[in-house]
Amino acid sequence: MHPFEYVRATDVGHAVATAVAGRAAAYLAGGTTQVDLMKDGVFSPDVLIDITRLPLRGVSVDGGLLRVGALTTMEELAAEPVVVTRLPVVRESLLLAASPQLRNMATVGGNLLQRTRCRYYRDPSTACNKRDPGSGCGAMNGHHRMHAILGTSAGCIATHASDLAVALVALDAVVHVRDAGGERAVPLTGFYLRPGDDPGQENVLGPGELVTSVEVPLLPEGARSGYLKVRDRASYEFALASAGVALEITDGITRDARVALGGLATVPWRSREAEDVLRDAPATLEVFTAAAEAALSGASPRPGNAFKVELGKRTIVRALSMVAGGQP
Ligand code: FAD
Ligand code: SF4
Repeated sequence: MHPFEYVRATDVGHAVATAVAGRAAAYLAGGTTQVDLMKDGVFSPDVLIDITRLPLRGVSVDGGLLRVGALTTMEELAAEPVVVTRLPVVRESLLLAASPQLRNMATVGGNLLQRTRCRYYRDPSTACNKRDPGSGCGAMNGHHRMHAILGTSAGCIATHASDLAVALVALDAVVHVRDAGGERAVPLTGFYLRPGDDPGQENVLGPGELVTSVEVPLLPEGARSGYLKVRDRASYEFALASAGVALEITDGITRDARVALGGLATVPWRSREAEDVLRDAPATLEVFTAAAEAALSGASPRPGNAFKVELGKRTIVRALSMVAGGQP
């Protein structure tokens, strides 16, 4: 492994100042992704900044807003009473991810900033535009069964791996970030970047910017939500396709709808197309099917993942049916 300096940050200011001091830097939270990337030689920082002692852990509710510190663990967030009662889509996205051991180490900030699981990205002996800009994409004509069919570019078709991000994108969560110049708030719907010509730039964070917290608006009383994840085995596996949905239904009519997709896209994917079909329409299987068609209408699959178009549609229809209270 490339030699690096280990620095334990004493406060947020110390962390961001160390990160922008001129050397390649990375933050260490739960370490469940970062340490693997360093051991595999995918990313070799000169300085590793341990942020685990910073006061960024905990959850609070203020009016209709849930505030989640970036160092809150996945298990802690899933167990939070208001998440259990008001945000099932968040709880289910967390509990269907990784394993209990990992979720007790892994933090919310680290989950949102985890890197893709594309096998070429994680193998420095292969071509990968995300890891090594301009080197090519091993997945394009290689093994891409798990890869994206939405938001792809000619340079990269890797999926974003976070389940939690899908739920939070559906809920219009806002990420608070901090650098040496101060703090700013970024809507999660605008936080992630599609690969375009620069697959290495996955989000809008500048060098050394630290995620400090996430704000999640609570769903209105009476809204229903849920997260459906389809994967090759029932636990400890990333999504082939997933859907985080929230519905407000009165008198059989969907008054408001949120639909976000995972496992299918290069970023946590909010489907406004599906929402437009659902809103002010009867909550029926026919309308859910039309919404799923709209959500996948822009898909551009490769030969090895063309099955995801139909799988994605069925995942959406089933998630909507489950949340609406009908038959799965
Ligand atoms: P770290 O590993 O410490 O950091 C991850 C990245 O985020 C690093 O680049 C780090 O520099 C950066 N970072 C961390 N915190 C901050 C911050 N506050 N501000 C700025 N940058 C920061 N995830 C899923 O969603 N679904 C799954 O099904 C799933 N399955 C998994 C299975 C396995 C076997 C493993 C190993 C992981 C799996 N994961 C899954 C991913 C797991 O959830 C992430 O590894 C974890 O959430 C990362 O959190 P961490 O605190 O360990 O982050
Ligand atoms: Fe790299 Fe993206 Fe291609 Fe995977 S899909 S090899 S991450 S460029």
